[in-house]
Amino acid sequence: WAKSDGGGKYEVFDPERSAREAARIELAADLPEALRRAEFRLEYQPLVDLRDSRLLGVEALVRWHHPRLGLVPPGDFISLAEETGAIVQLGLWVLAEACAQAAAWAEQFPDAGNGSGLFVSVNLAARQIRDSALVDDVEAVLERTCLSASLLQLELTENEIMDTAGKPLRVLEELAELGIKIAIDDFGTGYSNLSYLRCLPVTSIKVDKSFVDGLGGAEGLEETLIQEKIFGTIVSLAHALNLMVTAEGVETEVQAANVRRLGCDAGQGWLFSRPCAAERITQLLAAQTSFFPVG
Ligand code: C2E
Ligand code: MG
Ligand code: MG
Ligand code: MG
Repeated sequence: WAKSDGGGKYEVFDPERSAREAARIELAADLPEALRRAEFRLEYQPLVDLRDSRLLGVEALVRWHHPRLGLVPPGDFISLAEETGAIVQLGLWVLAEACAQAAAWAEQFPDAGNGSGLFVSVNLAARQIRDSALVDDVEAVLERTCLSASLLQLELTENEIMDTAGKPLRVLEELAELGIKIAIDDFGTGYSNLSYLRCLPVTSIKVDKSFVDGLGGAEGLEETLIQEKIFGTIVSLAHALNLMVTAEGVETEVQAANVRRLGCDAGQGWLFSRPCAAERITQLLAAQTSFFPVG
């Protein structure tokens, strides 16, 4: 079979590809019903303070429990939901659910996190950021759930925070004025002009997993040194701008030790914890879990 993605002039029928396409169309059609039937759940993944090993906050990650297909990961439906517009409703559900959960944790564990409660970090899709109702919606959710704005963080990617003219979006200022935190997700993979960091109300960056992967000690010495320089420079830049730095996708002890040595503030990844149900986070809070031994 000739592959159809090679830029050829004609396409050869590819049964695998058309099956995938059919599955996508089916999933897209199921989205509105899934929202009505409450088939979505949130999992929460710990963000760990690399200095004292404490749980600082959690990232909310949506999962779809499809009645026939089982667990569908967000990679398979978020972009679909953006295309159909269902993301606006889904995103609002995620926000409300995450804020309600964070408010419950804040009440039960007021001293968690950095001392004033565990924060929850919620991913925003491009379509949501361009929705004129977003700021009002966020404000209404905070009011309804009684969550302090300081315990909510919104994650946006570099490309999402730029308008088509390459200017940062005004809506970020309005969100920041509410007192919420704003993190740049997958930092280093998108828009490459760093000057936007200076003029935006951003509070932290999450360095993409691809930069952390190179710090596992598996590469040769020369490559390792380059990877360390790049990571260290990102950290210096962020700290010079008063931004907190989180390393994404930390899977090994060696990576954790390296990002910590290079000055990174927080870590997130399978080494510390996979994303898990809210009840599990409650257990971690109750046990005041340390995520690694502190020397
Ligand atoms: P993200 O925001 O960059 O989230 C991190 C992803 O990396 C999550 O995948 C998480 O489970 C995974 N991850 C965390 N630690 C490790 C690790 O050590 N190793 C590896 N290999 N992976 C790790 P997940 O949950 O499948 O989500 C994928 C993406 O889907 C997210 O990337 C985010 O862009 C999007 N997403 C998830 N939930 C939502 C949501 O509620 N709204 C929106 N708009 N997007 C969401
Ligand atoms: Mg994220
Ligand atoms: Mg990310
Ligand atoms: Mg990432």
